[in-house]
Amino acid sequence: MSEIRTRFAPSPTGYMHIGNLRTALWAYLVAKKDPNGKFLLRIEDTDQGRLVEGATDIIYETLKQCRLQHDEGPDIGGPVGPYVQSERVRSGIYMKYAKELIRRGGAHYCFCDSEMIAAQKEIQEARHESFKYDDPCKSLTIEEAEARIAAGESFVIRQTIPTSGTTSFDDEVFGRVTVSNDTLDESILIKSDGFPTYNFANVIDDHLMGITDVVRGMEYLSSTPKYNLIYEAFEWEIPRYIHCPPVMKDERNKLSKRNGDASFQDLVDKGYLPEAILNYIAMLGWSPETEQEIYTLEELVQAFNVKHIGKDGAIFDPVKLKSINAQWLRNMDLDSYEALIRPYVDQTVHGDFDRKAIAKILQPRASVLNEIPEMVDFFDTFPAYDNELYKNKKMKTDEAVSLKSLQAARELLEHVDDWSETNLHDRLMELPEKLQMKNGQVLFPLRLAVSGKQFTPGGAIEIAAILGKEETLRRLDLSIAQLSAAV
Ligand code: GLU
Repeated sequence: MSEIRTRFAPSPTGYMHIGNLRTALWAYLVAKKDPNGKFLLRIEDTDQGRLVEGATDIIYETLKQCRLQHDEGPDIGGPVGPYVQSERVRSGIYMKYAKELIRRGGAHYCFCDSEMIAAQKEIQEARHESFKYDDPCKSLTIEEAEARIAAGESFVIRQTIPTSGTTSFDDEVFGRVTVSNDTLDESILIKSDGFPTYNFANVIDDHLMGITDVVRGMEYLSSTPKYNLIYEAFEWEIPRYIHCPPVMKDERNKLSKRNGDASFQDLVDKGYLPEAILNYIAMLGWSPETEQEIYTLEELVQAFNVKHIGKDGAIFDPVKLKSINAQWLRNMDLDSYEALIRPYVDQTVHGDFDRKAIAKILQPRASVLNEIPEMVDFFDTFPAYDNELYKNKKMKTDEAVSLKSLQAARELLEHVDDWSETNLHDRLMELPEKLQMKNGQVLFPLRLAVSGKQFTPGGAIEIAAILGKEETLRRLDLSIAQLSAAV
């Protein structure tokens, strides 16, 4: 059996949106399921008007960040290059095959005014009719047409579609698809500038590049019968098709960068890990067979199965993405985590505090990296806060209880020299019994008194340990003074 070959074939038209990235990921997974499988990158830049500068670099960068390493592609070469369509145009591949397709009866030269045809098409579409254009050029012999071209007439090459019969194929996701040939457009395959359209280039390239499994968005599902007619005209083997259901923003709308939805890069900039994004989007429309939720790329290769791709669009759920990101962050070893979050901590913490201890209190609590600066800003700056915050039903605290326990804590801590977390814990835990209070009545006010914040990563003991003795006592004094003035 031959190896599986898939390709990711983006057009360099801007940001990498989430739907595109998921297509790339699934194409990668389908290839890598086969130990000899190959994942190719092909840049589809024949629509020169839509090209955006820098977009190809975004594609490379995104694939790299996601570790979706291609085996063949423009930057690394391979046996079936070039891998950029505009370079293939220059080598004459498409024109050569288009002429061959004409000889085989699958296409014809067309000299009609394309604007006039487009106008006709628009009217028919408005009437919800399928486009039927009775092209008079079809009756020209190849010799007659070539004579007109030699005389300098401008032309396009159009697909010739049988007027009767049906075309069917089996899609791995959508099952059997059958269309009546008279509903298929006789689309342009080669434009007057000599560039192929997607309708032609995808077939030629997928065949010449030995693609066995075409993984792409379902917007191409309804045109696929047309493409298959081209394969058949050439007597080429039709690949397996895996058309992917769309990634949706809600029930009705697709997720799209154009509508302001986050691109891959936006998510990374917000502090999502590429691994977590990939993990999440793999499951947008595909369900694993077990309850397992966290997958490395290698685990996805093992678990992925096109049979469990659903037909329905999958709604992108930011809450779920956040939860998966949090789990990825929690699963990191502390050293890597500390290195990863350092730039975020450094945004608000400049003082000489133990960064590893800070990392330790953050790791179980931060879901997205860009939450971090605000979570730890109180280390540098003791914020002003309201005494109201001492009132807490669950903790059974109010201002009076808090003042009492803070004063006791202040007295005790003044005489503590070993400022390690363990020792602080042992010593502070003497207080509840001594004061006839619950643990919360001591630790809750203390946390507020040294952080000035209602919510903090870490509890009173961890925070005091990081702040150090001097700063802890200074803040305690300020807080006690503020409370005494009120009680
Ligand atoms: N260039 C096409 C796109 O970006 C590729 C579709 C395909 O994978 O065949 O939509």
